[in-house]
Amino acid sequence: MPSPKVVLSLLSVAAAAVLSLSVSAQFGANGQPAVAGPITAKYQADASKILTAASSDNDAYTALTYLCDHIGNRNSGTPQLNTAVQWGADLMRKAGLENVMVQPAMVPHWVRGHEEAQIVSPGLNGTPRTLHMLGLGMSVGTPGQGITAPVVFVHTFDELDALPPDSIKGKIVVYNPGWHGYGVGSLYRTTGASRAAAKGAVAMLVRSATGLVEQTPHTGTLRYDEKQPKIPAAAISPEDALLIERLAKEGTVTVHLQMDAHQEPDVESGNVIGEIRGSEKPDEVVVVGGHIDSWDVGQGAQDDGSGIMAAYGAVKLIHDLHLKPKRTLRLVFWVNEENGGAGGRAYRDLVAKNIDKQVAAIEMDDGAEAPLGIGYTVLARTPGNRRAPTMQQMMRQGPPPFNMDALTPEQQQSFQTMQQIAALLQPIGAGKVFPAGGGSDIGPIVALGVPSLAPITVAEHYFDWHHTEADTLDKVNLDDFRKNIALLAVTTYVLADMDGRLLGTKIPDRE
Ligand SMILES: [Zn+2]
Repeated sequence: MPSPKVVLSLLSVAAAAVLSLSVSAQFGANGQPAVAGPITAKYQADASKILTAASSDNDAYTALTYLCDHIGNRNSGTPQLNTAVQWGADLMRKAGLENVMVQPAMVPHWVRGHEEAQIVSPGLNGTPRTLHMLGLGMSVGTPGQGITAPVVFVHTFDELDALPPDSIKGKIVVYNPGWHGYGVGSLYRTTGASRAAAKGAVAMLVRSATGLVEQTPHTGTLRYDEKQPKIPAAAISPEDALLIERLAKEGTVTVHLQMDAHQEPDVESGNVIGEIRGSEKPDEVVVVGGHIDSWDVGQGAQDDGSGIMAAYGAVKLIHDLHLKPKRTLRLVFWVNEENGGAGGRAYRDLVAKNIDKQVAAIEMDDGAEAPLGIGYTVLARTPGNRRAPTMQQMMRQGPPPFNMDALTPEQQQSFQTMQQIAALLQPIGAGKVFPAGGGSDIGPIVALGVPSLAPITVAEHYFDWHHTEADTLDKVNLDDFRKNIALLAVTTYVLADMDGRLLGTKIPDRE
């Protein structure tokens, strides 16, 4: 029996797992052009200063380089994460931010340990074939000697469901749903193990949730159904999934899987927080940030080093330009996004008493690729469906088609406000407003009605790299990174300073 603490951590994974899907790929439709207006005119001069300064900013990329090369990856519970947390707080203090603090949060400590997998038969020239594998985050391990069993290959859950339990019992289920976007791919990753276990499987392998075929496995969290036995689960490269599929057509394929993965007691870590206090309404807050934890492979460069460092660059730049917004601008590096969401919940608990004072929340967690504009979640309540779709539903299916006429007059006005702000970003090609944007760390406050925003990028490569050994600094293009700094700085500054406020949409945090 896991301790109650561990059970709580595992349950909390459910929310984080699905919410951690990137918004850009799913929400990148329906972009509306910027429309200049009075807000554009009022902030044109300040925005020009910001764009100019961001175009040559080196501070944030230098900091990102240090984070990647000298702290490295920083999975929850590890000493590296807490080194990053202390370093992040120092960085904010040195930048001159006020009220710098680490808000404590207990985080799970999942440990990968040694792991390996082979196709033992059919071998190749008499020897086993090594699989390119990476255990899924939060997976249990195998017994010490590993598991050796025949595989059952399926493409989809439907194929699995159609098989009699006798044909699955004692076997290793291998999924290759193909690549139909991260929403589908990550659904197999997060829920595939328990669905296989429900039919008696002893382990699960899943094709990595990526479109890139380069023998690179992608980890990511899984979500156990507490009613089913917990079986070990790993990602394999797309190439290896296809190899198993071909071999399985010829006859029995037997795989050996050995994983030492296990949970250790929760560890104290925390959200890193710093501010530019508002000059007139310091109690009202615009929050911007990303997550400081990463998976335990690569450098966590795009996911989400680039997000926290672009947000840092944006706030530092506003400070350095002596722009003094009327409201408080708060920078947060949330903790434990990847496998628990403890930071997002702790932050909600910190501000819930003053939720009406939380003016907007902007999360960058989709990589610093070239930005196209700002995602701002304003959803029409369609007839017969009075509830907004959950974030999970939107991640899987994309947001409902955008129709300005279906918005209330207040929603239309709020959307047009964002279009006026976006007009300030046209010089860097980021002038569109997308009708939805968010992130899993801000999910808990968005559920309470705080307006939800995120940069929307071209998202060409994010899912090729994230959660892999290949998520390293070289993937972050300096010019694109600077554009994200510019986007975050202009957007947060105007939201923190302008006369009015955006409308929020209460998006349920879970289904
Ligand atoms: Zn992330």
